Amino acid sequence: MDIKRRNFLKVAGITTLAGLGGTAVVGRLVASSGLAQAAGGQGAAQAGQANLNGNQTNPGVKRYGMIINLKSFRDDPTLGEKIVEACHSYNNVPDVPNPKDEIKWIWMTRYENAFHENYHLYRDEATEKQELPVLCNHCDKPPCVRVCPTKATFRNRDGVVVMDYHRCIGCRFCMAACPYGMRSFNYIEPAPYISNLNQNKPRRMRGVVEKCNFCVGRIEVGQLPACVEACGESKALVFGDLNDPDSEIRKLLRENHTILRNPSLGTLPSVFYIV
Ligand code: SF4
Ligand code: SF4
Ligand code: SF4
Repeated sequence: MDIKRRNFLKVAGITTLAGLGGTAVVGRLVASSGLAQAAGGQGAAQAGQANLNGNQTNPGVKRYGMIINLKSFRDDPTLGEKIVEACHSYNNVPDVPNPKDEIKWIWMTRYENAFHENYHLYRDEATEKQELPVLCNHCDKPPCVRVCPTKATFRNRDGVVVMDYHRCIGCRFCMAACPYGMRSFNYIEPAPYISNLNQNKPRRMRGVVEKCNFCVGRIEVGQLPACVEACGESKALVFGDLNDPDSEIRKLLRENHTILRNPSLGTLPSVFYIV
């Protein structure tokens, strides 16, 4: 059987199964792919960390990532609003008031919502009150990409998980597969909810999924993502190439203890948190 036909049958199989069982079936597909096997996942996550902490390089191949320093967000409670505003206005993310239809690329949430595996009853007061940003983790092994039947979401050559909105058929398998809930669906026409349109960036349309894309257009021309730029000199967010051992992000990873969201899932996030 040729490769194209085999791929088509694989896609058709996923589509049929999802039609039969929706989210639960997609969840099982993700689980059976090995991404959610707790023991293996933890091992994979640790292997990923080990690579970053060692001297391994991948000449010519980038893997972009981000560090989020929670202390900066404790020190400046206005920072959260600044980065959300910077992202959403730059990327034409609609401000839909009804929470049922809202679209979010980055937002502030409580520690227990972000770190289910690092949460316990006897936490310190600072952690109890902590609000921290969450965004797409640009996973090294992204389950959202595996389940997309049209390849509308894919990992680009720099390790950024991006969307081709024209290929998106709105099936929302990727939303069911993302264990972090980092994707939004345009249930309604978003245009009326964008107050200051950035003419240089596309608007999405009703019926497609969207999410953070690490400001891929900016990084391709050597600029920082809008949220990182909004932090100024605070270093609350640090962006860079995880494959470059001399990059600032790698230096910070070597010098600080960092945690990932739900590492046991084995998705290998590219977003790290200094607690
Ligand atoms: S965080 Fe979710 S949407 Fe982002 S790459 Fe990982 S699985 Fe995909
Ligand atoms: S909603 Fe779009 S991006 Fe998500 S799985 Fe379906 S086609 Fe792919
Ligand atoms: S990296 Fe860009 S798209 Fe992602 S949250 Fe930051 S500003 Fe938004």
